[in-house]
Amino acid sequence: MTEKVIIIGSGPAGLTAAIYAARAGLEPLMIEGMEAGGQLMLTTDVENYPGFPDGVMGPEMMELFRKQAERFGTRILRSNVSRVDFSERPFKMWIGDELQEAEAVIISTGASAQWLGVPGEEKLRGHGVSACATCDGFFFRDREIVVVGGGDSAMEEALFLTKFASKVTIVHRRDEFRASKIMVDRALAHDKIDVRWNSVVEEVLGEDSVTGVTLRNVESGETEEFSTEGVFVAIGHTPNTAVFDGQLDLNEKGYLETFENTMTSIPGVFGAGDVVDFTYRQAITAAGMGSAAAIDAERWLDSQE
Ligand code: NAP
Repeated sequence: MTEKVIIIGSGPAGLTAAIYAARAGLEPLMIEGMEAGGQLMLTTDVENYPGFPDGVMGPEMMELFRKQAERFGTRILRSNVSRVDFSERPFKMWIGDELQEAEAVIISTGASAQWLGVPGEEKLRGHGVSACATCDGFFFRDREIVVVGGGDSAMEEALFLTKFASKVTIVHRRDEFRASKIMVDRALAHDKIDVRWNSVVEEVLGEDSVTGVTLRNVESGETEEFSTEGVFVAIGHTPNTAVFDGQLDLNEKGYLETFENTMTSIPGVFGAGDVVDFTYRQAITAAGMGSAAAIDAERWLDSQE
């Protein structure tokens, strides 16, 4: 059976696309991935999504999105897509050996924050360890925070966090930032920002919440315990596009390229959310793109008939 629309990925972009596609009578099939719900499943309080005046927990919000998508008939498969062939229609997608076919596809596989992979980091995610200052900075009013990284994201996160934190220490593994000069100048000129050069975080300390980090100076090899209540990891994101490589145009960082609104390099295949957008990366912007992709898919399918 050929589906009208298959949606790959189940964060805010995918689930919003599903709500719109289902209400448009497209009976979408969602292949949600093994990390269903996306990055919001790793978040605690979400206070900036309109419509939740008292905030909402990330996983709870994704559960609500999902119920809304299912209410209108979205079918959901808990699997990863292992291979695709978009060279002809219907488009082909495999889950292991099982083939699924669709007239249109919406890709919303998101991006994954890169983590340090040091002890304590995973355990304390959402309890002081974060990869999103816009999401979590507010919880660090008058606290001391560490930001790890030396690129534009790290500078941006550090500068944003000065609105809340009493002090922000950027920990960078080299003696020079990779970020653009204007961002570096702004960060270095800020009186709340301090830098630990040539330093890496070896461990995140704390039981129920972050109490500090172990820093190692890569030049001298010396280690020290550094007190902090927050660790913001800003060492880059990886878009989840490996399975589309060679089939769809990707930019130099691997993000999906879109051309006419949400259409990818293959007409009938659309992209939405963090897999396309490396600028805003918010639940609300992803949801907005998801609705746009569903509308684009519906119009495109109409135009083919
Ligand atoms: P990025 O430019 O790749 O920088 C990543 C930083 O993290 C680098 O300084 C890198 O160190 C460090 N790093 C990587 N792995 C690490 C590890 N395991 N441990 C410790 N440090 C590690 O990533 P980004 O800052 O997210 O930026 C991505 C792209 O978006 C860039 O093109 C950037 O210009 C753009 N961007 C622009 C803006 C803006 O213009 N406002 C804001 C955000 C992002 P090394 O330097 O030693 O490699």
